[in-house]
Amino acid sequence: MGPARNVVLLGATGSIGESTLRVIRKHQDRLKLIGISAHQQGEKLCQIANEFGVKNVHLGHEQDIREDLPAETNFSTGSDALNELAALEEADLVVVAVVGAAGLAPTLAALEAGKDVVLANKESLVVGGQLVMETARRTGAKILPADSEHNGVFQCLHGQPEKSLDSIILTASGGPFRDFSLEQLSSVTPEQALKHPNWSMGPKITVDSASMANKGLELIEAHWLFGLPAERLKVVIHPPSLVHAIVQFKDGCTLAQMSPPSMTFALQNALLFPDRMEGVEQGLDFRQPLELSFSPPSPDKYPCLKLAQDCLAKGGTAPLVFNAANEVAVAAFLRNQIGFTEISDIIENTLNTADFPHASSLENLLTFDQEIRLQASAFLQKLA
Ligand code: NAD
Ligand code: MG
Repeated sequence: MGPARNVVLLGATGSIGESTLRVIRKHQDRLKLIGISAHQQGEKLCQIANEFGVKNVHLGHEQDIREDLPAETNFSTGSDALNELAALEEADLVVVAVVGAAGLAPTLAALEAGKDVVLANKESLVVGGQLVMETARRTGAKILPADSEHNGVFQCLHGQPEKSLDSIILTASGGPFRDFSLEQLSSVTPEQALKHPNWSMGPKITVDSASMANKGLELIEAHWLFGLPAERLKVVIHPPSLVHAIVQFKDGCTLAQMSPPSMTFALQNALLFPDRMEGVEQGLDFRQPLELSFSPPSPDKYPCLKLAQDCLAKGGTAPLVFNAANEVAVAAFLRNQIGFTEISDIIENTLNTADFPHASSLENLLTFDQEIRLQASAFLQKLA
């Protein structure tokens, strides 16, 4: 067993942040937390800093929490400082658990500095997949997928020759509205959307799961992580969320990865890779009956999934447009400004009116992302 790895956790106060802390707490001899960040929630950040004796603490929001932090903590605010934390000299591993496109810059900063990245933030790959993958290749930094489906694929592919892979199938629970009619969907509330049947997650991804925009984002994420084109990346509805990913090989054999629906499994796998040690939670109990069912998603019911698939096939900056419009629309839905089915209307309209300039640098991607947000917001004003 080597020395403990120094970990920086960006987005420490969120749902993935909490699950990551559970893994670190269990494996303190292997993982040492040396940096944390949050956007708001200064108090929660202080608690984490005090519990783990974290030396480097970053808060995006203007709030001076220095007094409540351990003595000699390096405290910072502002987005440049977040990127500096992502590239912290002493760090070995950077967990990106920030939500949304805001995860792109720190992911790139970490990879640029040669740090291995445990990547939960799928939006960074959707917005800047090419740049992220090229940066990792150039510096030799590893990307360890922590999104449960992608971590499942990563486990299935381990030790398999690259050429043997035929296709990847991501499972989706179908969310809380799986059995709703289209008419029922138009009047669902944020409270209903936030009640996911299997997973406990942050608000944005929970709404994305209900609309299946999440599975769309995940197809794009899988494209970048595993290098397959759109037609070899599929989705299947699997209500119990026990099988996370299925990999089909050229010889017709299929491997699947199973674990209970909790993020600690994928996160521990990524954090301790390639080692496997006792988990934070119990694995599946096969003394109980287990039903595994799979069925294809109906395209009419999940327009966000279809739009994301179109964007994946189109390539270039189309996925960026999808993501930016979705982030604007989901925030508006959570504020009760628009209805649930209007999320896909906003994305579709933004896609129809956007031009898709070539953008490859971080600066160009972020500028374009801002432009798209303005366009989506303008359309939103007309609806609201
Ligand atoms: P969350 O909303 O619970 O937490 C988000 C974290 O990011 C918080 O610590 C917050 O302070 C920070 N943050 C928010 N806005 C920020 C900004 N602009 N700049 C910097 N930091 C910011 O979200 P979550 O559910 O933990 O999801 C985090 C990421 O992981 C998302 O990209 C999500 O898609 C992905 N993911 C989550 C789950 C899950 O189970 N929650 C599963 C798979 C993938
Ligand atoms: Mg997932």
